[in-house]
Amino acid sequence: MFFRQLFDADSSSYTYLIADPVSGQAALIDSVYEQASRDTRLMQELGFSLKYLLETHVHADHVTAASILRQAFPAAQIALAAAAGAECADILLADNQVLQLGELVIKVIATPGHTDGCLSYYVPAGQLVMTGDALFIRGCGRTDFQQGDPGQLYDSVTGKLFRLPDQTAVYPGHNYCGFTASSICEEKCFNPRLAGKSREEFISIMNGLKLAPPKHLERAVPANLRCGELVAGN
Ligand code: FE
Repeated sequence: MFFRQLFDADSSSYTYLIADPVSGQAALIDSVYEQASRDTRLMQELGFSLKYLLETHVHADHVTAASILRQAFPAAQIALAAAAGAECADILLADNQVLQLGELVIKVIATPGHTDGCLSYYVPAGQLVMTGDALFIRGCGRTDFQQGDPGQLYDSVTGKLFRLPDQTAVYPGHNYCGFTASSICEEKCFNPRLAGKSREEFISIMNGLKLAPPKHLERAVPANLRCGELVAGN
């Protein structure tokens, strides 16, 4: 399989390109509006046909490039969780759903808690999982807005992601300190919010974070509910 991690420095967001080299079918996960021309060029250079534009959730810190990339690649379908409430999508995904890129399988795992509609995408053949904002490297997504629920996030991470094989590589939606990847085993042992912590301890850590709102919150959420289509004033 082909796998590439891409980065947007302004929002510290990762985008992932995954493809089946045999069929040439590709998926782009969590594209970023400002990086649409970079990703369009890369797709053209590599000669893949873009089948899916996947979102891990409705982001609050950047606008997705899904709509503009769907214009550039009309065969591509936008997919995100039914629970995300974004009716602009072509496919509404549910827990345990399977997406195919040729022979390559992507398994959808519902991992709510950061938002209601958070999904992780697990690729067994590559032994990797893209966790969006459910699980970060030595951290996790915040739970203080957008239907955030720390108890639900704890259940998603410990009950689902931590049950994947230990050697599974973890590719998160963001990193703010230079890490690019981790593993399930590493996060079980060293994630300071989760390792050795009870559900109650996790909830109290998350409720005590007192974070500033993300800088693009008011622009990003409404735009992402339209799959990144910008309208006047937004
Ligand atoms: Fe997020």
